[in-house]
Amino acid sequence: MNRIFLLSLLLSLAGTPSAWALHILIDPGHGGIDQGAVHSRLKEAEVVLDVSKRLQNLLSAESGVRVSMTRTQDKALSLPQRTKMADQLRADLMVSLHANAAPDPRAQGVELFFQNSLPPDEDALYLANLENQEFEEDSAHVGADSSRRGDVNAIVSDLHRQHRLRSSLRLSELMSKSWKDRESRKGPSIKQAPLYVVSRTNMPSVLVELGFLTNPTEARRLALPSYRQELAERLRDAILAYRIKMGNPIQNETISK
Ligand SMILES: [Zn+2]
Repeated sequence: MNRIFLLSLLLSLAGTPSAWALHILIDPGHGGIDQGAVHSRLKEAEVVLDVSKRLQNLLSAESGVRVSMTRTQDKALSLPQRTKMADQLRADLMVSLHANAAPDPRAQGVELFFQNSLPPDEDALYLANLENQEFEEDSAHVGADSSRRGDVNAIVSDLHRQHRLRSSLRLSELMSKSWKDRESRKGPSIKQAPLYVVSRTNMPSVLVELGFLTNPTEARRLALPSYRQELAERLRDAILAYRIKMGNPIQNETISK
């Protein structure tokens, strides 16, 4: 090990923020020319950006948490750009925020999606179709790629994948609990879907659908600043609980990366 290599290694370690704090990347969905779902005068891109900024403010006030955002303005960002950003920032966690739409105006509630490993049900496929519109790729192609890897690589990547799945599920459960605790009723449902941003990231990630813009009651609530703040608080509570549950982020990093 020469001195230059040692120095650069030390610098890179010192510069790794996730060694000191849980680094979370908040991803407000859509933006710019892609406004997402638009109903009842509400634009998904605007609603989720506002909730994301509120969550960013809340988390920034906490010690042991570092926050980044994929976008802070109303600008377009492709799905690959978002996952690439997560990788480049070496975030420990990615939380993508969306608002839902459905043909049936009775559809309601918060829904949590994490990385897909099971065949999705029909509703999950419908949502994936809505959210992945700009990026269509045959998921079978990914399977073919991984089967070509060497055995050891395949085992290691499978362990990483399992770790990401478990952590993502844990975060989803904590989010569901955060809703349940406050409303003392059934928490949001947790689902798996082949959504690009949660399936293509190298870190635990959860996509939260904050409610249905197509449901008149939910659309009214989602328009209220006080309700948006409440949503951000619930997400913050879950993320802080996740940080405690996962313990030392340094140890987790050695497993997850
Ligand atoms: Zn969306």
